[in-house]
Amino acid sequence: MKILVVNAGSSSLKYQLIDMTDETVLAKGLCDRIGIPGSLIKHKTYDGRSVEKEITMADHKDAIASLIKVLTHEEWGVIKSLDEIKAVGHRVVHGGEKFFKSVIIDDEVMQAIEECVELAPLHNPPNITGIRACQQIMNGVPQVAVFDTAFHQTMPQKAYIYALPYEYYKKYKLRKYGFHGTSHKYVAERAAQILGKPYDKLKIVTCHLGNGSSIAAVDCGKVIDTSMGFTPLDGLAMGTRCGTIDPAVVTFLMNKEGLSAEEMDAIMNKKSGVLAISGVSSDFRDLDDAVDQGNERAALALEVFSYQVKKFIGAYACAMGGIDAIVFTAGIGENNPKIRKMVCEGLGFMGASINEEKNLVRGAEMDISTEDSKVRVLVIPTNEELAIAKETKKLVG
Ligand code: AMP
Repeated sequence: MKILVVNAGSSSLKYQLIDMTDETVLAKGLCDRIGIPGSLIKHKTYDGRSVEKEITMADHKDAIASLIKVLTHEEWGVIKSLDEIKAVGHRVVHGGEKFFKSVIIDDEVMQAIEECVELAPLHNPPNITGIRACQQIMNGVPQVAVFDTAFHQTMPQKAYIYALPYEYYKKYKLRKYGFHGTSHKYVAERAAQILGKPYDKLKIVTCHLGNGSSIAAVDCGKVIDTSMGFTPLDGLAMGTRCGTIDPAVVTFLMNKEGLSAEEMDAIMNKKSGVLAISGVSSDFRDLDDAVDQGNERAALALEVFSYQVKKFIGAYACAMGGIDAIVFTAGIGENNPKIRKMVCEGLGFMGASINEEKNLVRGAEMDISTEDSKVRVLVIPTNEELAIAKETKKLVG
């Protein structure tokens, strides 16, 4: 069964065609600059063929048509015809309170996704456009929505209700939702497989540390808390996002600097985080280089970040009443031994210690804990596309 996975952004669309018989990625690519002059498609196949070509793509429908063309192309194709694609799995950022799992898309589901636009005004509209484009071009092929928020919908009220006037929860659905759910679910399930223990008996803290970072407490297969909130701005300090700060800082700064709501929002989302602390970069590779050259603010940025991750691990171990495993994933979690070491330093008291040599691993699955570590510490590369394809297969299978 071949499944197309689509991740549609406002001006780009990433895709993978996965053969679910053996989970081979037959082809993957990116339609970039959709609706902007100079739009192009980048495409790679499993056997090393690749093409990068400027093609006019006025909208997402053009992008889907272009990727179908390249998937079936004589030279760069991996399938003979469109009929070979049995289903499409779409990444959808926000499912609000309606969706606690993936669903086959019908008119009712489309309407519900549209109702979530006000919760994710930047993300849900392009996701919807991507779904519509596929529905038009691949008429009759089942389309599945896989939500970033769905895995977190098991959180109890005490974890997601904000101490704000309750009417705002009712009126605006203002509450914690959490994001990166597909990734947290994938690595938590994988952790159970690697440890050879039943998923529904494990207490796992999953640390998705990338440009955007979030942590989840997965208690016996269910999320009971997560660090991102109403939006992906909450929780950890990230590449350019400030994460949790004293909320009074927002009005203080707006008054002092005469900032509009939009300007304040841009500062917190795009000009903060480790970029702001270091004054160097939002990329942890650049920060590592700067630290090696003696840059103290870059060192401080790494300390702030790893300290916050450590605090979440401790808090979630308490919230779950124990912890069996800590999982590191995403760009930093998978590739940055220094951050993993800083996070795990001093966690011996709760039974978590890492083997420094094993911790040098990058981009591969590895149990990096010491043999006598009671809490297993794992590096597990995330694979959101495969997770979306698996969910899709499960539903249309
Ligand atoms: P992501 O958003 O998951 O792509 O993660 C981006 C972050 O991961 C950046 O801060 C990078 O420094 C870091 N990262 C990604 N790939 C690597 C790599 N191969 N080696 C070291 N750091 C990496």
